[in-house]
Amino acid sequence: MSAGRFAPSPSADLHIGNLRTAVLAWLFARSSGRRFLLRVDDLDDRTFTEIGHRQVADLTALGLTWDAEPEWQSQHPDRYAAAVDRLSAAGLLYECYCSRKDIAQAPRAPHAPQGAYPGTCRDLTEPERAARRAETGRPPALRLRTDTATFTVHDVLHGDYTGIVDDFVVRRGDGVPAYNLAVVVDDAAQGVDQVVRGDDLLPSSPRQAYLARMLGFPQSVYAHVALVLNEDGARLAKRDGAVTLAEIGPRRALEQISASLGWRATDVEGMLAEFDPAKLPREPWIYRPG
Ligand code: GLU
Repeated sequence: MSAGRFAPSPSADLHIGNLRTAVLAWLFARSSGRRFLLRVDDLDDRTFTEIGHRQVADLTALGLTWDAEPEWQSQHPDRYAAAVDRLSAAGLLYECYCSRKDIAQAPRAPHAPQGAYPGTCRDLTEPERAARRAETGRPPALRLRTDTATFTVHDVLHGDYTGIVDDFVVRRGDGVPAYNLAVVVDDAAQGVDQVVRGDDLLPSSPRQAYLARMLGFPQSVYAHVALVLNEDGARLAKRDGAVTLAEIGPRRALEQISASLGWRATDVEGMLAEFDPAKLPREPWIYRPG
């Protein structure tokens, strides 16, 4: 059965913008008859278990419900290893010995897209690989050998969105699955076919959708929702004052989220009755604490 999800990284407490995105993810799923799932994306070293638990508690306090126990990415390393093995067996991976600096300084074709891997390690010979391995003295990352420069996804709010697909990393040099691989593998394993999240992740979606295709997974439909900004037009942050649920309280947070969407309801069931994806605001919400 199809599902939507919210997948926070437990690196900081959820702020009002993240909470609003979570509510929207829940509304998108429930209003389309999907299951709703919660996943804690805790693979990164900058994530903390206790923050993850607090995120789950905050979402519960808002009245959100999910249809299975929340999953934690750190609990199933085999899932990612199996996907890496499949890609590797299909000849779709290569070792990359580049540091960030190497990539920043690499020569590029004149019109190469910004932020795309320049392909330095893509076509090395076996002796060249052996030499680079010995020279760097650290385990290589694994990159996907892509056969396209762009890919198009469908987004409910942005329409067809075409973005860069480069030879992105699927497993980091330290052996940790890369974000793009982990979310794609988990979404498929959890039956997720609707991805609702902040629009800062819109540029990642073509890479993820392309990887899903390479792994034979179904394509998801996306909804990248506008972020919440502070009064200076910058991304909301802790220093902007009362931004977390501990500071605002669930009742006030729900009122603010609902008002930001032009609704009257003050609980999530009431918001579900008012929810219409076609009428969602396309501009960022400017948050004023208090
Ligand atoms: N865990 C990611 C983040 O909080 C989002 C994952 C996703 O929605 O695909 O930035």
